Amino acid sequence: MFKKILIANRGEIALRIQRACREMGIKSVVVYSEADRDAKYVRLAEEAVCIGPAPSAQSYLNMPAIIATAEVTDAEAIHPGYGFLSENADFAERVEQSGFTFIGPTSESIRMMGDKVSAKQAMIKSGVPCVPGSEGALPEDPKEIIKIARAVGYPVIIKAAGGGGGRGMRVVHTEAALIHAVQTTRAEAGAAFGNPAVYMEKFLENPRHVEIQILADEHKNAVWLGERDCSMQRRHQKIIEEAPAPGIPRRVIEKVGERCAAACKKIGYRGAGTFEFLYENGEFYFIEMNTRVQVEHPVTEMVTGIDIVQMQIRVAAGEKLPFTQRQIEMRGHAIECRINAEDPYKFFPSPGRITLWHAPGGPGVRVDSHAYTNYFVPPNYDSMIGKIIVHGDTRDQALARMRTALLETVVEGIQTNIPLHRELMVDAKFVDGGTSIHYLEGWLAEHRR
Ligand code: ADP
Repeated sequence: MFKKILIANRGEIALRIQRACREMGIKSVVVYSEADRDAKYVRLAEEAVCIGPAPSAQSYLNMPAIIATAEVTDAEAIHPGYGFLSENADFAERVEQSGFTFIGPTSESIRMMGDKVSAKQAMIKSGVPCVPGSEGALPEDPKEIIKIARAVGYPVIIKAAGGGGGRGMRVVHTEAALIHAVQTTRAEAGAAFGNPAVYMEKFLENPRHVEIQILADEHKNAVWLGERDCSMQRRHQKIIEEAPAPGIPRRVIEKVGERCAAACKKIGYRGAGTFEFLYENGEFYFIEMNTRVQVEHPVTEMVTGIDIVQMQIRVAAGEKLPFTQRQIEMRGHAIECRINAEDPYKFFPSPGRITLWHAPGGPGVRVDSHAYTNYFVPPNYDSMIGKIIVHGDTRDQALARMRTALLETVVEGIQTNIPLHRELMVDAKFVDGGTSIHYLEGWLAEHRR
């Protein structure tokens, strides 16, 4: 096992990784930007190194500074967390070439999944159900494109092969609008992602977002750890996640879960990963794979009792997964609310000094946050300041615990989205379960204009 790991991230996930290391008896080095100098996990770190000024380009995305820090601190491995460099194949490659272990999949796997056309092709080959659409990237010839769209059936969605973060997509309802949409998306994709390739999918009108968590080692073992429903989103940003997904028959989930684990074996995947699906009318459709730990990983940890971050570290060190699929048991129901420093209804960011932070507690309540009273939320990064996660024997109990937890939480000095979460936890449709990815935006339009 590693003796020392460098954590190349910030905020709650840096603290989460630090906790995993500490429990495993591994020393950790934290890198931080000037804006994060006072963060608690920086102060609690065995070693902390400032790698640059606040802007991410000069700190958390600064590959030479991060690798040099690993060198001078004698770290053996680098954990990238999520966001920043976590899905950057070039970074993974440079880390390995510099003699360190990248805690994640190989750069080849990251590259394959980062190109959505090659990811989809790999999934089709592995028997993972995908959204019907073009076989690979769209050709140049407009006639061919029209033919493909007719075969797929309108509405269709044109997506950039290199897209991410909900950007580089365009929905097309009629043939008249098709060619212009393809050209515009190509031009945008070329400018934004340096790759003009686009592909076509059937546009699903009212799906849910349901994803499968997997873990794989380099000894050809792969397991799936159940699913998460992340349909409560605004502008493709998830705000509430839960496990299991309400109302989906177990045999349907099991079938897709097994396919995901089989696909990992087939492509030789190592590490933690997530297969994201749209779910509509009883069917799963793969849209993309994330080759890193996700923000919402705790809901899976709560229902399985498996520490996903520790597993990432173990398999990166070459260990075998310590359990088989049959030994994985799901128990109860977990819900996560992402706490963002923002206006709860207008969504403007609300950085600044937290004058009072009171976290909830009690049975089945977990808080993953780097915030504390007097913590200054810097304006330079994502607005998420933490996550409240609850576990209950049933979904009803989990909902009741989340309501209690949100009631107990006090954050003063800045605005947060806690009032929005309080309303959603008593919303009749959400409480029923199984709302689609459009539900939250519709709800917001109705309730707040
Ligand atoms: P990104 O990497 O940018 O997040 P995804 O492929 O995961 O791109 O798609 C992001 C979101 O776009 C999905 O969560 C869904 O809301 C919407 N979307 C993508 N593909 C489709 C589709 N075929 N039909 C309907 N909505 C889609």
